[in-house]
Amino acid sequence: TVVRVRKPEWLKIRLGDNSTFTDTKQTIEGHGLNTICHSGKCPNQGECWSAGTATFMIGGAVCTRACRFCNTLSSKTPAPLDPLEPMKVAQSIKKMNLRHAVITSVDRDDLEDYGAAHWVRTIEEIRRVAPEVTIEVLIPDFNGRLDYVDQIIACRPRIISHNLETIRRLTPEVRHIATYDQSLSVLKRIAESGIPAKTGIMLGLGETEEEVLELIDDAHAVGVSIMTIGQYLQPTRRHLPVVEYVHPKQFARLRTLGLERGLRHIESGPLIRSSYHAERHVLD
Ligand code: SF4
Ligand code: SF4
Repeated sequence: TVVRVRKPEWLKIRLGDNSTFTDTKQTIEGHGLNTICHSGKCPNQGECWSAGTATFMIGGAVCTRACRFCNTLSSKTPAPLDPLEPMKVAQSIKKMNLRHAVITSVDRDDLEDYGAAHWVRTIEEIRRVAPEVTIEVLIPDFNGRLDYVDQIIACRPRIISHNLETIRRLTPEVRHIATYDQSLSVLKRIAESGIPAKTGIMLGLGETEEEVLELIDDAHAVGVSIMTIGQYLQPTRRHLPVVEYVHPKQFARLRTLGLERGLRHIESGPLIRSSYHAERHVLD
């Protein structure tokens, strides 16, 4: 039998119901767009959407991978790319008056370029429609094809993120197809370009503090400067169970230890997500 750990007080979700929340929802749904806020059941949706922030997920709603923590739909044969998606994303960003836009994508292992050209078109379209907006991209590993990573780098977004998601030992059971070392090689390539490299991980999957510190050292060694650390929440019963609800004090401790180990910015707390308060990293 599986023992289910009870959710502590500090994870209670804050709801959003002001008019900005409604406007954000209408803009996104009106364009038929996907967000990781919604598909990832993000606990900050109320707060972010009420503040006019959202993370757009491009490449459609269906991923060719099936990571065991992720609530995005998967299929080996997703629908073809929507050629109008870059334009719709750009127009939504303009309409929402965002200062800083975060874009991510599903993995499109079915496409010859793993979706790289669609990424480039999206960044270019945002630049054209909303030139004042700073752009942060959370990219897939493009199956280790660093030439595709270079195409994203060539667009010079303000921050390029790629998530390690979890420590080395747990990567094979938590992520699908992606490997720890391949993700490090993507991060290394980003950092070498001079664009700030950012990564995100989840706690509560059974990792030890020592293993998290090893990950921080590995990330720092390849040049990562920004990191987010949040609590894993099980999206449905079909997903990996939560092993532990890590105490906020432990998140704070890891932040301190990570900064001591040389990272420049760390957001660490139970409700932190890759895109949470992302605009803060751009300001300094
Ligand atoms: Fe969306 Fe990120 Fe905010 Fe969550 S933290 S609601 S994913 S913008
Ligand atoms: Fe989710 Fe994994 Fe697909 Fe990313 S690659 S959208 S984490 S299933």
